[in-house]
Amino acid sequence: MHRRCPHLLGRLFVWIAGGFGRKLPANPQTIVSMFWDQQIETMGRSALEQLQVKRLQATVRRVAKSVPFYQQKFAERGLKPGDLKSLEDLRRLPFTANADLRATYPKGLVAVPAEELARLHTSSGTTGKPKALFFSRKDVDNAAELIARCFVMTGCTRDDIFQNMMTYGLFTGALVMHYGAEKVGCLVIPAGPGNSEKQLLLMQDFRSTVLHITPSYALYFATYLESRGINPRKDLAIRKAFIGAEPYTEETRRKIEKALGVDVYNSYGLSEMNGPGVAFECEHKRGMHLWEDHYIAEIIDPQTSEPLPDGKRGELVLTTLCREAMPILRYRTRDITSVIAEPCPCGRTHRRLNRITGRSDDMLIVRGVNIYPQQIEQVLMAVPQVGRNYLIVLDGLDDMTVKVELAESGFDGRVEHLVGLQTEIVNRLRAEILTKPKVELVPPGTLPVSEGKAKRVVDNRRL
Ligand code: AMP
Ligand code: ZN
Repeated sequence: MHRRCPHLLGRLFVWIAGGFGRKLPANPQTIVSMFWDQQIETMGRSALEQLQVKRLQATVRRVAKSVPFYQQKFAERGLKPGDLKSLEDLRRLPFTANADLRATYPKGLVAVPAEELARLHTSSGTTGKPKALFFSRKDVDNAAELIARCFVMTGCTRDDIFQNMMTYGLFTGALVMHYGAEKVGCLVIPAGPGNSEKQLLLMQDFRSTVLHITPSYALYFATYLESRGINPRKDLAIRKAFIGAEPYTEETRRKIEKALGVDVYNSYGLSEMNGPGVAFECEHKRGMHLWEDHYIAEIIDPQTSEPLPDGKRGELVLTTLCREAMPILRYRTRDITSVIAEPCPCGRTHRRLNRITGRSDDMLIVRGVNIYPQQIEQVLMAVPQVGRNYLIVLDGLDDMTVKVELAESGFDGRVEHLVGLQTEIVNRLRAEILTKPKVELVPPGTLPVSEGKAKRVVDNRRL
């Protein structure tokens, strides 16, 4: 077993619970509330907050000493590292914006000598300059450590065979998960995304049990399996899928779970914070535990930047507490979520984040109405005749067309037979987004698919 506990009694418990040193069965029903680092994961709130203050103070001292960007920001505010006495004082620190990281490309906001840098990632920014994100050796190891917590939290053991279907390379998604899975002791298959035929072969030949995949590729892959007549429950060994990297809805989760026969766990992260492993669902799947010994989360109003209380939805702001190479203070993630402060039945004390419902900069304004693509997805994925892909196209002055792929089953090849369905979708969408879009039903498998992050909106407006 790879669970660790510093105390002798704890070790004995872990050894007994771990089947006297034998490998645990991979059946998730028999494995509940396992911990990778029980002491930290179940630490009392006040001890956890004290630890946060201590680590925050150290982080602030480090950047005040060696990062010109923060030195200047502190000078503008007349702030000295010693001023930071409690978590309340966090608000006195400057925000770090996406633009700040782009502006410091390629050097990054590095806080250690060059010889201590161990790895470079860049963000998958869609426009303009990327962001350079550096890791020290310890950062690489810490990132893997957090992933190990996530894996074990969902019941993974070293018996698992982990097929990593995310993009390897400059993107953090695949590599960080890869290192974490190795730490747990899984057999790791670095498949990368795409080439569904090969993915299937790997799953069949090596009996993969856990997948890491984007929601859009998972939906596409489900269609591929269907077209090959594969029943994943019978023909494959896949049991879990870790899904993240882009927003998706509960309806999409259910669709993937049904089509692939897996338990889907929501996985949240961003390159600026080490990539995946920032927050992850436990077996209760009611929000994602954010590892608060490594990150401090705040929720703010994206317009006014004022803090919002627990439970209120707003922009997530994150501060790193353990990063050596590139600590980041109060990073404006632009991701919209809220904090669940109630204790979780799994026993972990680290608070949870609700599903990310979109990014503040994903918001579309159509005829004066604010719309998030996830609202549209939520409506579509709840309609049984709808397939697994959709595209929002904005044209002309302010015209919105939602192209909707139909499900394979029940489709007789003639979209003109589906006028009733089309009207129903228009009505459901209008009730959700308060404006009436055009809906175009298209045959299964005809909309573009992406192997990486999905592109859900094409905006051709002349505004
Ligand atoms: P990157 O830095 O390229 O890894 O992209 C990180 C961004 O992907 C985040 O800021 C989110 O907008 C998005 N993202 C990652 N994981 C999730 C998730 N589980 N749900 C929703 N959005 C996510
Ligand atoms: Zn939990």
